[in-house]
Amino acid sequence: MTPVIAVVGRPNVGKSTLFNQLTRSRDALVADFSGLTRDRQYGEGRHHGHRFIAIDTGGLAGDDEGVDQLMADQAEAAIEEADEVLLVVDGRAGLTPGDEYIIDRLRRQGVAAHLVVNKTDGQDEDQASAEFHGLGFDPLHRISAAHNRGIRRLLDDVLGDA
Ligand code: GDP
Ligand code: MG
Repeated sequence: MTPVIAVVGRPNVGKSTLFNQLTRSRDALVADFSGLTRDRQYGEGRHHGHRFIAIDTGGLAGDDEGVDQLMADQAEAAIEEADEVLLVVDGRAGLTPGDEYIIDRLRRQGVAAHLVVNKTDGQDEDQASAEFHGLGFDPLHRISAAHNRGIRRLLDDVLGDA
C-alpha cells in the first residue's frame, strides 16, 4: 500500500511549502486512487525509491486568520485518509492558540501526529521552538521547508529509512 501523509497546521506555517518539497507530480492521483476527493491537494513523492502520497490542507478559506471551520474540516478529512499526519508549526512564531487548538483536536481524535517545527532557518527560532518541547512530542522534527532542510530525515522517521 502506498502510504498517505497529511500535512496539517494553522495558516502560514509553511504547509504548502513543505508539500511542494515533498511532491513533484500532482496529476492523475485522484483518478488513480479511489476514495480521494478533488477538494484537497494531493501530490506524489518518492522516498528511497518508494512512492508516497502527500495531502496539503488549508488554503481553501481563512488562509490569513485563525483556524476556521472549513479548514478544520478539510484537515480532519485529510487525517482520515492519511496513514501519517505531519502537524506543522512555525518555529519563529512559537506556539500559538491556533496550534494549541489543532493539537487538542488531534488528541481528541486519537491521532498520533508528528510535530514538525518549520522555519528553523532564522536567528530567533531556538527560543520560540523551546515552547514546543513541552508538548510531549518525541522526536520533535526541525525543518526549513523553504530551504529544503531536514525533510529527508523527517521522511526517514515517518516512513522508514529503507
Ligand atoms: P501555509 O499557509 O501553511 O500553506 O504556508 P505557506 O507554505 O504558504 O508559507 C507561508 C509563508 O511562510 C510563505 O511566505 C513562505 O515563503 C514562508 N515559509 C515557508 N517555509 C519557510 C521556511 O522554512 N523558512 C522561512 N523563513 N519561511 C518559510
Ligand atoms: Mg497553504
